[in-house]
Amino acid sequence: MRGGTVTVVGGSIAGCAFASAAARAGADAVTVLERSEGRLADRGLGLCVHDDRAAELTAAGTLPPGIAAHRLARRRWVVRDPAGPAGRVFWDQPFPFHSYHWGLLWQGMREATPASVDYRHGVTVTGVAAADGGDRAEVHLADGGVEAGDLVVGADGYRSVVRRAVSPDSRPDYAGYICWRGNFDARRLAAVGEEHWPSEAVTTVCFEGGSCVVYRIPGPDGLRVNWVLYAVPPPAAGLRLDDPTSFPPGRVTAELAVGLTALLDHAFPPYWARVLALTDPEDTFVQPIYDLETAPITAGRLLLAGDAATVVRPHNTSGAAKALQDATAFEAAWRSAATWDEVLHGYRSARGAAGRELVALARRLGRAQVERTPPWSTMRPGDAHAWWQDQLGGAPGIGGQAMCPATAAQDPRH
Ligand SMILES: Cc1cc2nc3c(=O)[nH]c(=O)nc-3n(C[C@H](O)[C@H](O)[C@H](O)COP(=O)(O)OP(=O)(O)OC[C@H]3O[C@@H](n4cnc5c(N)ncnc54)[C@H](O)[C@@H]3O)c2cc1C
Repeated sequence: MRGGTVTVVGGSIAGCAFASAAARAGADAVTVLERSEGRLADRGLGLCVHDDRAAELTAAGTLPPGIAAHRLARRRWVVRDPAGPAGRVFWDQPFPFHSYHWGLLWQGMREATPASVDYRHGVTVTGVAAADGGDRAEVHLADGGVEAGDLVVGADGYRSVVRRAVSPDSRPDYAGYICWRGNFDARRLAAVGEEHWPSEAVTTVCFEGGSCVVYRIPGPDGLRVNWVLYAVPPPAAGLRLDDPTSFPPGRVTAELAVGLTALLDHAFPPYWARVLALTDPEDTFVQPIYDLETAPITAGRLLLAGDAATVVRPHNTSGAAKALQDATAFEAAWRSAATWDEVLHGYRSARGAAGRELVALARRLGRAQVERTPPWSTMRPGDAHAWWQDQLGGAPGIGGQAMCPATAAQDPRH
């Protein structure tokens, strides 16, 4: 199928990928409506993509080549131990991922968006609706404007307004815990020594009631250290957790900062507590954890993508890869379709179950690594391996799964 007009709500990772996919597949006009003014700001900075997913997505043309990435190879699980300041490594696990700087990834995606795409900043969508008896869809803008097109893609993240129209009862559920995130220039590590930490290693610091992942990422001015710390119970200090919300960098209050310091002091190996303490307060923030499986991912001429379709706890390390896979499946469905119904059917068949599986796996990972942590201090590699397999529950691994070529390219008419 060729031609048609596509409006994409949200111009982050999923939005850029879907706009590019629609333009490549032959849309006459593609518009992106992004509420942020100018360059999108970073929100915590680091993310990882599994090497196999990155290779597939690059081959599919969804992940542009040349975006800065830092190679990771191993994940070392560490627990506080009297034997040494860096704790005891109780498991060394393969970790075939590359890490990215969120802002550089977004910039690379944005620059790779074809020039024919009309990407508009500072445009907030307040609602979407069916138009022309369901053969088109329209978006309602905060300035009172209305724009209609053949297809509206909701790439507007975990608080999606498009999702409200596709699946009005679907709301992200608060998982019962929060994460702290932070980052700092890796040159600061000289102050605490780097001998405990090879460049390609991710460290997961384990403690009762939580865990913390620490790894290096590329940055505009050299490597940075990025960390994400999950812990129960959540701090009581004035966080509203019942509704999806997050605190941008700099919003961590003095009371929250005291709570984090206390946790580092009593639960972390001293070396890793010193590493996290290298973070400036304005580069530390708190984010509640949610999950959501949206049952339908399309309705009429509306389609959900990325975090708007499913909200996956971050333990699965799959958010960006999932958004890019959605766009890959969308393009494949479009190329083998003759009508809009076939595009939507093909996308649904390729991605509906994939999103639900990611949510379920990430829930199991969150329960095991935060909500019901095992006795880490007595764990040996064999115990850790069995514990990990139990979390996977038959899945081959984390970071998302390979897209099934037969599903992605299947003829939606059958
Ligand atoms: C600014 C920002 C920074 C991030 N930083 C990180 C990070 O450092 N590490 C990490 O792992 N993940 C980060 N994420 C999340 C990560 O991008 C996503 O989990 C993943 O890439 C899937 O992205 P998405 O495009 O589906 O959703 P999102 O990245 O959440 O993007 C949704 C986009 O839609 C826009 N939008 C929302 N509502 C409307 C509306 N009503 N009208 C118009 N536009 C709207 C938002 O401004 C946003 O740009 C960040 C997201 C954002 C928006």
